[in-house]
Amino acid sequence: MADANLMEKIVSLAKRRGFVYPGSEIYGGLAGTFDYGPMGVLLKENIQNLWLRMFRDERDDMYSVDAAILMNPKVWESSGHVAGFSDPLVECEKCKKRFRADHLDDVKTCECGGKLGEARQFNMMFKTHAGAMEDESAVVYLRPETAGGMFVNYKNVIDSIHPKLPFGLIQIGKAFRNEIAPRDFIFRLRELSQMEVEYFVNPSDWERAFEEWRKTIHAYAAAIGLSEGTVHELEVPDGDRAHYSKRTIDFEFDYPFGRKELWGLAYRTDFDLSAHEKGSGVEQKYLDEEAKEKFTPHVIEPSLGVDRTILALLSSAYREDEMGGEMRTYLAFDPKVAPVKAMVAPLLKNKPELVAKAREVRAELRKVHPQIAWDDNGNIGKRYRRQDEIGTPFCVTIDFDTLGEKPELKDTVTLRHRDTGEQERLSVAAAAARIAAAVA
Ligand SMILES: [Zn+2]
Repeated sequence: MADANLMEKIVSLAKRRGFVYPGSEIYGGLAGTFDYGPMGVLLKENIQNLWLRMFRDERDDMYSVDAAILMNPKVWESSGHVAGFSDPLVECEKCKKRFRADHLDDVKTCECGGKLGEARQFNMMFKTHAGAMEDESAVVYLRPETAGGMFVNYKNVIDSIHPKLPFGLIQIGKAFRNEIAPRDFIFRLRELSQMEVEYFVNPSDWERAFEEWRKTIHAYAAAIGLSEGTVHELEVPDGDRAHYSKRTIDFEFDYPFGRKELWGLAYRTDFDLSAHEKGSGVEQKYLDEEAKEKFTPHVIEPSLGVDRTILALLSSAYREDEMGGEMRTYLAFDPKVAPVKAMVAPLLKNKPELVAKAREVRAELRKVHPQIAWDDNGNIGKRYRRQDEIGTPFCVTIDFDTLGEKPELKDTVTLRHRDTGEQERLSVAAAAARIAAAVA
């Protein structure tokens, strides 16, 4: 069910609270680009760090690479992107404006009244020139996916680290796609971030590995707080898969504008390594010394879009309710992904002894996690609302009882819970332990 109103609210909150801004906004923006602000960067880091933890650090068979965005154009010839990474386009014969053919239905004329030509394929890779010459020999592309940088380093990793099969390469990075119709906020972008794995297996082992990564993807969805039942598997049927893939699952999410692809898991066979062996003339095989067998590994690829993950989290966490007789908006982020873990506040900012104690408590909580905010601006209710809107799970308030006005409450604080607004009184150490448990 499309909910345009909800989408508007999310876009507005994302800007108002420093998650996502339109790219180059003071110059009128640039379609298909967005910038992450202070809260967005922290959210992004948390998503990426959890992914690295689950897809790399909790395993023994994963190796990072960080490949260049600019690559030899032959990489993209071998991978098929130069010939086939394209969308069907029609061009207006009068004003030359281009439209996605598959978005037009039966429209035959342009907005200017001009006639639309026949559909043709338009390559989506961004082209630029390396060096001083601007001719065809200097053409390079901004990578359309991070995968290529891993395939071309397969042999380097084998030769330098000597991993045994199965093993994987893992990378987070930018990719660029010249989308004709960027849309839906940070869903369809021209510049995006990907979290990708290329997992190399013996061909006889692909089904086991595929299943293992399928489970890891679901575990990751749960870990970042996408509740069960909100991520749907779509088994991509034969005719719709990329020609080299023998099995693909799209993991879809119910965005406010409908159910759309969030992540993917593909069995790519030996397509990539074989194509690069053919294109480069450099052997890309694996020698299994025990079995005395030499072969081209097959590949399982879990591919996750960072920006789409952020949009899914913003959509699923967005809440409105009534608290204390007022409407409130909050983001019900899992504490593990929340940009700020807790806000510390002195009840009053003009009482030096309260402020000093609150600083001390904040320093203590920062030993648990660096993202502990400070806010002494305005009344306490307003401070809570600001934190609610960025999804801060806890607020810790220091008052006169903390200082010992009631001796039995000395060194206790109030811990406020974001979703319910409920507050409890507990020692600083107990509050720290509570926060530590929630964000671990
Ligand atoms: Zn036109």
